Amino acid sequence: MAAPAVSVLITGANRGLGLEMVKQMAEASRPLRKLFACCRDPDGPRAEALQTLAKKHPNVITVIRLDATDLCSIKQCAAQVGSVVGKGGLNLLINNAGVLAKATLQEATSEDMQNSFNTNVMGPMNIIKEFLPHLRAAVKASGTPGMSSSKAAVVNISSILASMETVKQLYGFFPAVSYRISKAGLNMLTRCAAEELKKDEILFSLLHPGWVRTDMGGEEGEIDAPESVQGMLSVMASLTEKQNGAFLDYKGNSLPW
Ligand code: NAP
Repeated sequence: MAAPAVSVLITGANRGLGLEMVKQMAEASRPLRKLFACCRDPDGPRAEALQTLAKKHPNVITVIRLDATDLCSIKQCAAQVGSVVGKGGLNLLINNAGVLAKATLQEATSEDMQNSFNTNVMGPMNIIKEFLPHLRAAVKASGTPGMSSSKAAVVNISSILASMETVKQLYGFFPAVSYRISKAGLNMLTRCAAEELKKDEILFSLLHPGWVRTDMGGEEGEIDAPESVQGMLSVMASLTEKQNGAFLDYKGNSLPW
């Protein structure tokens, strides 16, 4: 297994899977050098749990404002991260922030589609673009061949609901048209990035966390956030160039497109 990443950025880090990632990474036996935990409103009540965690690990966790739908906040965050990591760069970027509107095709509105697309596709696209200099810096600083999440990688949190091959089987169970379409867009974005940036040795992959009991997954989910995140972090640590552009679940299984 590859060595753990040394600097990591997570979006949507104030609750759900993002908060659990911050917790497990900060409390790991081999802690990170820097963990940038991003959320929309760091000073608001929804970020209290994250701020408490950051106070416990002041040398590791830095809480930064980032709204995935606000390019200005993405640019400001990238500048702040750059001033901390410098030539060492950013090793791992996790696009975790996401929104879900539970509407069928007949119920879905243009607004649902726009919100889903802005957060789940445009957000990761702009974030990848703005953080590319820091990922490239990490490649340069590593001086090692190949690809890994401890060198330079982007992990986009997708969903099995993006899979076209499983629509027949899963649509009736969970329609959510705008979410499905936006996550399928995120999958294509990731494949394009993997192809375009393989020469830069930056790894891109997609992870499905499982059906998890969070605000988004609901109480009827199959697993809790700690189990999902433990699995995803282990998959992230094992990524190599063989998984560039891969769509995997939290156990490391390949998923159908
Ligand atoms: P969640 O509990 O609803 O949390 C979503 C997170 O995304 C929150 O931190 C939220 O911040 C943040 N967010 C939403 N819009 C944002 C924006 N514009 N800018 C920045 N942050 C934003 O969801 P979750 O279950 O943890 O899901 C995390 C990821 O896993 C998502 O991408 C989701 O699609 C994916 N996923 C989840 C499941 C599941 O079963 N839970 C299954 C498959 C995939 P606020 O507090 O500010 O709203």
